Amino acid sequence: MHPESLFNTGLVMMFVFSLITFPVLFFVTAPYGRHRRPGWGPEIPDTVGWIVQESPSVVLFAVVFFTGPNATQLVPLLLFALWEAHYVQRTFVFPFLLRGKGRMAPVTTVGLAVLFNLVNASVNAYALSHGPGVTDYGWVHDPRFIAGVALFLVGYSVNRHSDAVLRALRKPGESGYKIPDGGLHRYVASPNYFGEILEWTGFALAAWNLAALSFALFTIANLAPRARSHLRWYREQFPDYPRTRKALIPGLW
Ligand code: NDP
Repeated sequence: MHPESLFNTGLVMMFVFSLITFPVLFFVTAPYGRHRRPGWGPEIPDTVGWIVQESPSVVLFAVVFFTGPNATQLVPLLLFALWEAHYVQRTFVFPFLLRGKGRMAPVTTVGLAVLFNLVNASVNAYALSHGPGVTDYGWVHDPRFIAGVALFLVGYSVNRHSDAVLRALRKPGESGYKIPDGGLHRYVASPNYFGEILEWTGFALAAWNLAALSFALFTIANLAPRARSHLRWYREQFPDYPRTRKALIPGLW
């Protein structure tokens, strides 16, 4: 198939993923982490799962990007740097920082994540360096680029800080859950998801193409229902869980 046709097919798949994921996850909580339960087939160590599922977002993204004619242009390179700053940490650092004994993940969820990341990494890298992404140098002065990069960086900080607060709740080797506090944890059950959504919304604004938009929409479709499940879970597990905390968006939802 011609690369352009492959890209268009991948792009359509990205929007279809969101359309399916959003309603399904309101009824079926993805069975990993605190929502892990029997009946989802064989499992592998959680750390291995993270590395396997996220690797396409580092490696395939770089391969597709650097085979494109616009790969040496400033704007695509800056967007490439933002993407890789997130995914190198997520793939090769984050999994080794996680705490908790016997953490396992179902091959089913890892497999679905691999499929998603293969499509997502290829269409986003293709859009940036093969077109139809923005390549004009003047774009760095455009308010959409500036606001998008700023939003990405705010989201990145919120995501990293919120994940760090969660990790600190467990001593090395310890398992179990506590009520988190600090930063945006005082306002919502899943500030790490809120940060992740800000990041990819900012990226979509800065990249200004349909592939980046499809990823931002998928991130919302995937994480909003899960944040709702997390809030419900906290309220069931901890009678003293602060009633004012929302699921995802401080003060709103
Ligand atoms: P969670 O918030 O569910 O868990 C993050 C880590 O913190 C896990 O190791 C978890 O342990 C631990 N943890 C969470 N809450 C507590 C608590 N109350 N007490 C003690 N430990 C706790 O996040 P996810 O695992 O779903 O996601 C991890 C990262 O990946 C996030 O930054 C998220 O934004 C990102 N992500 C992005 C997606 C996207 O669509 N772009 C999709 C999914 C995740 P345990 O595993 O034992 O529950």
